[in-house]
Amino acid sequence: MTKEDIKATVTMRSVLSRYGVEVRRGRCRGFCHSGRDLNMGVYKHNCHCFVCDKDYDIFAVVEYFENCGFKRAFEILGGDKPVSFAARRKAVKAKQTCEKERAIDAEYKRLFDLWCAMDYAIILYNRTEFPDEALTGLYIYALHNINRVQAELEEVKDKEWSMKSSAQTSS
Ligand SMILES: [Zn+2]
Repeated sequence: MTKEDIKATVTMRSVLSRYGVEVRRGRCRGFCHSGRDLNMGVYKHNCHCFVCDKDYDIFAVVEYFENCGFKRAFEILGGDKPVSFAARRKAVKAKQTCEKERAIDAEYKRLFDLWCAMDYAIILYNRTEFPDEALTGLYIYALHNINRVQAELEEVKDKEWSMKSSAQTSS
């Protein structure tokens, strides 16, 4: 859809309602100055704040609430790439889940590498007839900490599992 197509089909009222701005008798609250009073005039294609003396068309309203530029507002309102609000919310959520998953993966890998190094130090110490000071130090450190690392690994695994199962139930 072109800009003109969108303007012909999307009313100011419907755009405002998407963002929870109620229109009463052609008026709405002045969202631009976080006002509560109905000092904004709402017309078919634009709205006007009498306090700020600012005029908004439907794209400007989307830009304001989404904190984006015209290009993105155009897409949101059904321009070249129509994106539904529900799909957008889902995409944002998926991105957040993905970032969390990556963080958990990284933490798991870090702990696993640590666990392997400790396990190796213990094995090496046990196989070495005359371990030097460095190896003995490592062995003692590993012996004291390997259970804690193991427990942390289990915790991360639980976190990953609960996140994956909650992602499944919410989709
Ligand atoms: Zn205002």
